Amino acid sequence: MSELRELYQQVILDHNKNPRNFHPMADATRTAEGRNPLCGDEIKVYVRLHDDTIEDISFEGRGCAISKASASMMTMSLKGKSIADAERLFQSVHTMLAGSGDVEDEDETLGRLAALSGVREFPVRVKCASLGWHALKAALDADTGPVSTE
Ligand code: ZN
Repeated sequence: MSELRELYQQVILDHNKNPRNFHPMADATRTAEGRNPLCGDEIKVYVRLHDDTIEDISFEGRGCAISKASASMMTMSLKGKSIADAERLFQSVHTMLAGSGDVEDEDETLGRLAALSGVREFPVRVKCASLGWHALKAALDADTGPVSTE
């Protein structure tokens, strides 16, 4: 477990200092914002869908290292994935952060995201880690179907 903790710290520091896909996206087809008032985190997620595939994903916002690092890792994990894959991963991350489920068993699905399980030692930070994911879910669930002309 201490290995995982070390990985957690490295990953958070790295992604906080150098967040990936950290920019607005002009041609996004979906966006959603998430707020975590407890900590003051604000994250906006941009997704460009092509059919059922997440062709591109980015985020911007401000907040603590954990919220930023988690969103950064999320964008890395989801680029090129299908919506179904993204929702599966959302569930896995949610289960991991909620502390139910065995991280070792989830390892294959989560890959490097398993490093985020270190946040479970700091329960108040769980919302920081899940913020970007909830924004993503909102973006994917948003109904942007054809607008009625009536
Ligand atoms: Zn936070």
